[in-house]
Amino acid sequence: MLRDFFIFLSDNAFARRLSLTAPGARTMSRRFVAGETIDDGLNAARDLVASGFFVSLDYLGESVRTRAEAVAAADTYITLLERIASDPDLREKVNVSLKLTQMGQDVRLSQREHEGGGGVDGVGRGGSRGGSSGVSSGGSGGGGGASGAAIAAENSASRSLWPRPPKHATPENRSDWDEEFLRGNVIRVLDVARGHDLFVRFDMEGTPHTQRTLDFFRYLWEKGYRNTGIVLQSYLRRSEHDATEANLLGARVRLCKGAYNEPEEHAFQPKAEVDRNFIDIMKRLLSDGNYPGIATHDPAMLRATREYSAGHELPPSGWEFQMLYGIARDLQNQLITEGYNLRVYVPFGEAWYPYLMRRMAERPANAMFVVNAVLRESPFRFLFGRKAH
Ligand SMILES: Cc1cc2nc3c(=O)[nH]c(=O)nc-3n(C[C@H](O)[C@H](O)[C@H](O)COP(=O)(O)OP(=O)(O)OC[C@H]3O[C@@H](n4cnc5c(N)ncnc54)[C@H](O)[C@@H]3O)c2cc1C
Repeated sequence: MLRDFFIFLSDNAFARRLSLTAPGARTMSRRFVAGETIDDGLNAARDLVASGFFVSLDYLGESVRTRAEAVAAADTYITLLERIASDPDLREKVNVSLKLTQMGQDVRLSQREHEGGGGVDGVGRGGSRGGSSGVSSGGSGGGGGASGAAIAAENSASRSLWPRPPKHATPENRSDWDEEFLRGNVIRVLDVARGHDLFVRFDMEGTPHTQRTLDFFRYLWEKGYRNTGIVLQSYLRRSEHDATEANLLGARVRLCKGAYNEPEEHAFQPKAEVDRNFIDIMKRLLSDGNYPGIATHDPAMLRATREYSAGHELPPSGWEFQMLYGIARDLQNQLITEGYNLRVYVPFGEAWYPYLMRRMAERPANAMFVVNAVLRESPFRFLFGRKAH
């Protein structure tokens, strides 16, 4: 019930506006979001790396509707990758995660005329912001694969590249989307990452995007972009099938439970079924996958993973745990002490609102933490007996 409410809020424009202007809003995001700038993200990454963690940096943003916003987001990722690559403390331990709807997955072909051009030609020329302008989008491209420009210029055929599951397929929903723009924009980021030998993970969003995201990933894979990976959600009925496909391909997978509201038709609803599927897929990935990321804070899932790994004598260096910044920090430290690889997903940026609402949906007790933080900055702070910080 509360979960549904917070997921509803995550997508609600009015609630978003209200929250962003509320006193203490920034403070409340800080427990789960590293800050608003690239420097904030890199500083958090530096601290974590110094304590033995791996990191995935996420520049917050999703569901962008214009090409200019999508181009600006890609530019920021390019700056971020250049900064990671130039820092010897970070380059071996830090990668990035991005959402395809932030890169333009929801931009429509029919929008072109309203924006005065766009498509591949628009990529890289407009919309830079926040110190990200002037960054070359070329990159060296590394070995293998066609050049970004050549690929982006290809006609985006509307066909399934990633095998659809025989049962439980999610919608394809591909009629009016500007796939060519998306490709051009993402390939700019991937070329820079590949030039520096850095890895880019595509986060997974709701089911309207599942098949498209997997197709998109497969397209890039076939073109030689191997510095990318996907996310599978154990609440989805199709994910076991997708895990098998990913293993056959040798693609890197992050396994998580899933953070969106999905209908019964596509997703298991009871936690017990989501957990059972998580464990089944975890086993497949650990045994047959390519350096999988097991992303959970659930003690039962952590235990099952450790037991399976130990029982099958799988070296802990062949996979990693992943957790979110600011969540279950005691568990995070414990896993590092025990010698496991653990990557912390560190979000930063101004667009923290939907991310924060999803974290509250997962654990409504987080809402109390947030309310507490807001009150500490409010006129009622005297109730806490010390000055707000
Ligand atoms: C690194 C990483 C990347 C992710 N990427 C994606 C993605 O691309 N797409 C997607 O849909 N989802 C993503 N998620 C979110 C994920 O799907 C879950 O919503 C989230 O991790 C909560 O599930 P859980 O496995 O931790 O267990 P749950 O069953 O939700 O919780 C088990 C226990 O974990 C602790 N816990 C869980 N969540 C929280 C929280 N927010 N605050 C405090 N304690 C908590 C609590 O003790 C809780 O009882 C990601 C999660 C991680 C860790």
